[in-house]
Amino acid sequence: MAILHTLYQELLSFLGIRPLITLFQTGNYQVLLTWDGISSAIGPLIPFLLLLEAGRALVYKRFRIEDYKMPFFTFVFNRFLSRFISIAAVAFCIGLLEPLALFHTTLTWYWLIYGYIIWEFAHFIYHYLGHKVRIFWCLHATHHVPQSMNLSVTYTHFFLEAPYADVIRTSICILAGIHPALLFLIMFIDGTWGAFIHVGENLLKDGRLGFLNRIILTPSHHRVHHARNPLYMDTNFCNLLNIWDKVFGTFQYEEKEIDIEYGVSREMNTNNFADVYFGELYYLFKDVIHAPGLKNKCLYFIMPPGWSHTGDHKTARVVKQAYLDAQMQALTETPVVATKTA
Ligand SMILES: [Zn+2]
Ligand SMILES: [Zn+2]
Repeated sequence: MAILHTLYQELLSFLGIRPLITLFQTGNYQVLLTWDGISSAIGPLIPFLLLLEAGRALVYKRFRIEDYKMPFFTFVFNRFLSRFISIAAVAFCIGLLEPLALFHTTLTWYWLIYGYIIWEFAHFIYHYLGHKVRIFWCLHATHHVPQSMNLSVTYTHFFLEAPYADVIRTSICILAGIHPALLFLIMFIDGTWGAFIHVGENLLKDGRLGFLNRIILTPSHHRVHHARNPLYMDTNFCNLLNIWDKVFGTFQYEEKEIDIEYGVSREMNTNNFADVYFGELYYLFKDVIHAPGLKNKCLYFIMPPGWSHTGDHKTARVVKQAYLDAQMQALTETPVVATKTA
């Protein structure tokens, strides 16, 4: 019975409905006007949408267990490990770096906008390095393994990724003077939106969200980010405001004529938890062991995934350039049809 009770408590925790149950039991609806009340009301939103999405997939007979199996395993594995390390890392960074901040902001709407722009910059840095530095890719790659998009992908992470992301993001934001309370508010908005952009086609066929597709980062943009099509690799690193992708030239729209292929580009067994979770680390250490000389061994840790000491690079940049060159060649080789003029 103890196991059933634990599972029940875990389910309540996952669904995020415990504060709502307390709210109904106490009848103290005034709490909905407070920050805690608002966050407890929004908390169950993503788990609810996830169940709705899986439910629709079941009804329309598109439900495939493999779409949810690995996200579920990684969620269970990360449940305690990642969260506590991350909370400790955030608290440590705030304590250490707050006295060194350039200046200190207050809790006003204009500092919220400033804070959000800085947060997105910090998120861009963490996410960009997660794709461009091999050791950081080992922490981030698990999130890119799923071969279809649905809300469960938002829970698919390597357990050290959240601490790594939060150390970089918190450090930059605190040094830029963002008030910790403002930072937690931004983290909450970012977390909710960051989960929603993983909504799959079973719930939202067209992820462009109309005119919003031009202004903010939509599920469509994030589907592009999860794609391994050469044109889409290493694009759309932002989360809600995609200004930094536009500034740094990594912004990419979803093209109508390109069908998205989800997943990572290397051969892997997506049904093997060890491969999904530790595969990138395994291949990194294999490359390091076989590399000649200390310099090459060190370079494997910091160069982009696909870099090789032999010079035969298969990085995203190389793959994309080859694709663009092939496209260009196909265009120039298209025979020009002579048109008759009357
Ligand atoms: Zn990514
Ligand atoms: Zn994602």
